[in-house]
Amino acid sequence: MAKNLKFAVIGLGYFGVNLALRLVEEGAEVIGIDIDESKVQFLTDKITYSAQMDSTDVLSLRKLGLKEMDGVIVAIGENFEASILTTALLIEIGVKKIINRVTSPTHERILNAMNITDVIVPEAIAAAQLADRMMIKGVLGSFEISKDYSIVEIKAPSQFVGKSVLELNLRNDYSLNLVTIKRVESKNTGLLTMGERRDVVRILGVPTPSEIIYSNDILVVFGLEKDIFKLSELGSE
Ligand code: ATP
Repeated sequence: MAKNLKFAVIGLGYFGVNLALRLVEEGAEVIGIDIDESKVQFLTDKITYSAQMDSTDVLSLRKLGLKEMDGVIVAIGENFEASILTTALLIEIGVKKIINRVTSPTHERILNAMNITDVIVPEAIAAAQLADRMMIKGVLGSFEISKDYSIVEIKAPSQFVGKSVLELNLRNDYSLNLVTIKRVESKNTGLLTMGERRDVVRILGVPTPSEIIYSNDILVVFGLEKDIFKLSELGSE
């Protein structure tokens, strides 16, 4: 049987926590370290081992057996000095693979000078992913459920208009689940506004198979991103 990969995540802020949890989800053994006890407590029982310690304290760091790890991720953000010092200590200990979260070009330059080239800028990755998602035609909003699955709001493709949910056959033809339909309706806003009309969005609840798709409908679908992409391409045919 293949051995489990072992990682340590130092700095359990929003980024570090998510990274640690995802690594565990994917089958790795993960040690999490933070100077803040509450961050450590949050991960107790969720990852292999979590410890409260100052990662700039070389004696404590040495006790963790980090040299044997497949990778150590320095996920400290704002505290620039602690991040650099932690990395220097990891080099001193002889950690084979160090990956650094960087927060500024200066930070990156210093790391490069220390021969650390494996760096990540989470904000840049998130921005790129968001841009990619927004470029999927017709996608109005999305919520990532896991690495592969999302719930996405997408404009009903013109080919769907006038058809029933049953006829769309989304589950068989696109491997997607229709969660609900958001119907954009033009409403009279009342006497005071002299009959002015504005768009309001009505949620149709759990759609019935006989529900007919209207031209301004927004479909809320759940599935793999690749299948959502296929559906989005329809609208542009
Ligand atoms: P994020 O941007 O990931 O949400 P944050 O803004 O909460 O994080 P940051 O300053 O970016 O906090 O640091 C990330 C984590 O690193 C924090 O939980 C912080 O307690 C921890 N940290 C900072 N300095 C040290 C240190 N010397 N030793 C261990 N952990 C540290």
